[in-house]
Amino acid sequence: MSAPAPGNAPTSAGFRLALWQQIMIALALGLVAGQLLGEKAEYLKPIGDLFINAIMMLIVPLIFASLIQGITSMSDPAKMGRVGGKTAAIYMLTTVFAISLGMFAAWLFQPGAGTGMSFAAQGGEAATEAPSLAQILIDLVPRNPLAAMAEGNILQIIVFSLILGISLSLIGDAAAPMVRGIDSLAQAMFKMTSLVMACAPIGVFALISYVSGRYGLEVLVPLAKIIGVVYVTCIFHVLVVYSGMVAVFTRLNPLRWLHGSIDALMVGFSTTSGAATLPVSLRCATKHLGVSKGVAGFVLPVGATINMDGTAIYQGAVTLFIAQLIGVELTTMDYLMIVITGTLATIGTAGVPGAGLIMLSIILVQVGLPLEAVAVIAGIDRILDMARTTVNVAGDLMTSVVVGHSEGELDREVYDTPRIT
Ligand code: ASP
Repeated sequence: MSAPAPGNAPTSAGFRLALWQQIMIALALGLVAGQLLGEKAEYLKPIGDLFINAIMMLIVPLIFASLIQGITSMSDPAKMGRVGGKTAAIYMLTTVFAISLGMFAAWLFQPGAGTGMSFAAQGGEAATEAPSLAQILIDLVPRNPLAAMAEGNILQIIVFSLILGISLSLIGDAAAPMVRGIDSLAQAMFKMTSLVMACAPIGVFALISYVSGRYGLEVLVPLAKIIGVVYVTCIFHVLVVYSGMVAVFTRLNPLRWLHGSIDALMVGFSTTSGAATLPVSLRCATKHLGVSKGVAGFVLPVGATINMDGTAIYQGAVTLFIAQLIGVELTTMDYLMIVITGTLATIGTAGVPGAGLIMLSIILVQVGLPLEAVAVIAGIDRILDMARTTVNVAGDLMTSVVVGHSEGELDREVYDTPRIT
C-alpha cells in the first residue's frame, strides 16, 4: 500500500482534508458566497466576529506565557542577546527594504498617474489620531502591567513580560515554581489555540463572505492600480525575498516554510490582524516548522507588534501613489524621510485591522502631502490590509526559521516532514 499523500490525513472515516486545505476552500467559498449574497453577507459578520473574539481571547495569556517561557528557557544570557540581536537586525533591515520596494514598485508602475481622483469627494477616516513618535516610545513602558493586560496593550505586555522573564532568569532557583507554572500555562494556551483553530474554516468563510459582499468588485475598479501594485509587491516580497532568505540563510527548502506557514497566512489574510494571528503563528512555527518554543516564543510576539513589512510596503507605495495623484514631485530627501518615518511608524503600528492607515498619516505629514488623501485610501483599506497583514505574518515566521536555524533551535526533522494537519 502506498503512503498517504502529504497534507492529507486518512482517518478511519475515510479521507479528511488537512486544516489548511479546509481554510483555503472556506476562503474560496466565502468569496463566491459574498458575491452571491451582496449586502446580505452582513448577516454572516457575527460569526466572523465570534472567531476573531475567540482568537483575541488567546493573545494576552499567550504572549505573557510564551515570551517568559522563551526567555527562561534560554538559560545562557549570551544566547538571549544573540537571538535578540539577530531578530532586531532582520526586522529592521527587511522593513527598510520593504518600504523601498513599495516605493520602487509605485515609481515603476505609476498607479496614481491619470487616475483623475479628487480628495474632497471622499468620505473621511480621521487622520489625526496618529500618536507622535516620542509618545510611541514613552508608551512602551506600562505604568501598570495589569492595566496593560486588561486593555490588551500588546507592546506594553511584551515589555513587561521581557523584563519579568529576564528577572526570573536572574533569581536562579527561586524562579522554579513560577517558571513551571508559566510553562503549563503556555502549554494550555497552545492547546486552546488548536481548539480555536479547528473552527477557523467557519470563521474564515464568514469573514471573507462579508468583505466580498460588502465591497463587491465595483469598489476595486477606480483604485485597481494601487491595489494591484500593493498585491504584486506583497506577493513578490513573500515569494522572492522571504523564500530567498530562508534558502540563503538556512539552506532549507523554502517551499516547506511556505507550506508550514499557510494556516497563519490565511488567518492573517482573513482577520487583517497580525496580533490576532499570533496564536496561529506560534502553532505553525513550533508544530510545522520545528522552531523551538524558546525562539518562537520570543521572535513571534515581538514581530507581531513591531515587524510589519507588509505595512511598510503599503506605506511606501501609497505615499508615492498620493504624490502622483496630486502631481507632487518628491525629492531625494522626501524619499529618505519616507524610509525613516515609515520604519518608525511600522514599529508603532498595532497589529490590528486598519492600524496601518492611521499611521500612514505620520508619513504624509512628514513629506507635506495632504492628510485628506487618507480618505481616498480608506475606502479600499480593508482589501490592502489583507495583503499587508499576510506579509507581516510571513515576515515573523521567516525570521523565526532563520534565527531558530542559526541558533541550532530548529528541529530539521519536523521542518522536513510533510505536515498532516
Ligand atoms: N493590520 C495590520 C496587522 O495587523 C496592521 C496594519 O494595519 O498595517 O499586521
